Amino acid sequence: MTDPNDDPEAAIDPDEDTDASTGLGSTDDQQSPDLDDVVLDNLDAGTGDASDEASRGLFDDLLEGEPIFENKEVLRPSYTPHKLPHREEQINNMATILVTALRGDTPSNILIYGKTGTGKTASAKFVSEELETTSQKYEVPCEVEYINCEVTDTQYRVLAQLANKFINKNVDVIDERIEKLEDLQARARDDTSELDESDYDSLSALEDAIDELEADKEEFEEVPMTGWPTDRVYSSFFDAVDYHERVVVIMLDEIDKLVEKSGDDTLYNLSRMNSELENSRVSIMGISNDLKFTDFLDPRVKSSLGEEEIVFPPYDANQLRDILQARADVAFKGNALTDDVIPLCAAFAAQEHGDARRALDLLRTAGELAERDQIDNVEEDHVRQAQEKIELDRVVEVVRTLPTQSKIVLFAIILLEKNGVHNINTGEVFNIYKNLCAEIDADVLTQRRVTDLISELDMLGIVNAVVVSKGRYGRTKEISLSVPTEETEAVLLSDSRLGDIDDVQPFVQARFDN
Ligand code: ADP
Ligand code: MG
Repeated sequence: MTDPNDDPEAAIDPDEDTDASTGLGSTDDQQSPDLDDVVLDNLDAGTGDASDEASRGLFDDLLEGEPIFENKEVLRPSYTPHKLPHREEQINNMATILVTALRGDTPSNILIYGKTGTGKTASAKFVSEELETTSQKYEVPCEVEYINCEVTDTQYRVLAQLANKFINKNVDVIDERIEKLEDLQARARDDTSELDESDYDSLSALEDAIDELEADKEEFEEVPMTGWPTDRVYSSFFDAVDYHERVVVIMLDEIDKLVEKSGDDTLYNLSRMNSELENSRVSIMGISNDLKFTDFLDPRVKSSLGEEEIVFPPYDANQLRDILQARADVAFKGNALTDDVIPLCAAFAAQEHGDARRALDLLRTAGELAERDQIDNVEEDHVRQAQEKIELDRVVEVVRTLPTQSKIVLFAIILLEKNGVHNINTGEVFNIYKNLCAEIDADVLTQRRVTDLISELDMLGIVNAVVVSKGRYGRTKEISLSVPTEETEAVLLSDSRLGDIDDVQPFVQARFDN
């Protein structure tokens, strides 16, 4: 799936890197020496007097043989690029709104929309880093807090995380301040004229100030990750933010996930804070993959949050090429890429709603496949293989996480296809489905519900269901599998419940002809 927080590495066979580089680093003729051989070779060398050879460990050879990648990290989603081609307009818009914070005023709230992989997170992080750097340069108190609401997905957690961030910052500020005052105190004890330049007219005034800071520090209690009433968490956060003068920009990435899971209370509370804060100001930047998520918001929240809106349109193939080229220049060795590689990655990803994440995954995977083939160049065919691999990984993930009932329905369709039934109709699926449910003791849903589940599988791209007219017999759905049968079946059978199905053959015989 296009879950941006998924570690895409998880989709890649962890053995691949090892296999590939073991082969590459090896000097003998073996096609794919296994690790045992490598170790033995080195041990043999060690028995002679060539102690240099002996000290060459398992990894020395592997380290040298890296003909394709110069710096693979650059292609990973965790890497934040400092140049974002084709996002200049959006980045400038953000900056124009947020520069207000550097003047000490409250920036408008911003809502950013765009499909996954359109550079929203990367652009927002880039802008926030620039904003903080500039605020330090000019010593204006402006802070950005980034929260990924897919991970931090309840009001409690969002507020607790914010509270603790500000509490820690405040404690740091207080510690620094105390240290300065204690320094002054030490000097003033020797010579009271040291106080002349300060805000304190006596040693005891200075001591009071230090005590007061110590007391402030005591009051900041970390919020536990569960257990407090929400209003207590909120007031902790409120007090922590308002401790001193500053403008705070709170970035809520994947804000649609928060609203979907926990409603809009968090946004309501955050957006009305400014009327009560005395020293500080809060501005919210929400980032959403779902263009319609504001439909579910309280109208007050909607108008407050959407004071400014910035849209991130999908990239086209040419833009994706530029993005890939910039990253490839750093990621790959000089001539590792043949000419067609980047255009093909860009073309595939452009079909995938212009998703730059997909484009980068393709490029990295293609490189890894070339590495595994032990050749020095990434070729067009590696990109095609990478596309298949990523697509298959996606299917496996989608199928694996289907609810049991959908898995049974899908299994019924697979059984029919495997038995040579084409243009499967809903009745046939339902028949097999019922038998499968009986076999594993699952509840049997109505045919109506099963039809719905088939439509869902269609939307997920796992099956293709087209409505065909049967003349005076009305209309029916013709269903076919859009994913590889064997692999999909294997994923289904890895489910502990479906794995219990022993002999399915008899059920298929029950098919009625139409
Ligand atoms: P979104 O948050 O919209 O889903 P991201 O910002 O996470 O998308 O971008 C997905 C991937 O594509 C990231 O690895 C990001 O670095 C990269 N990317 C997106 N847009 C650009 C761009 N204009 N230039 C360079 N890299 C980009
Ligand atoms: Mg994102």
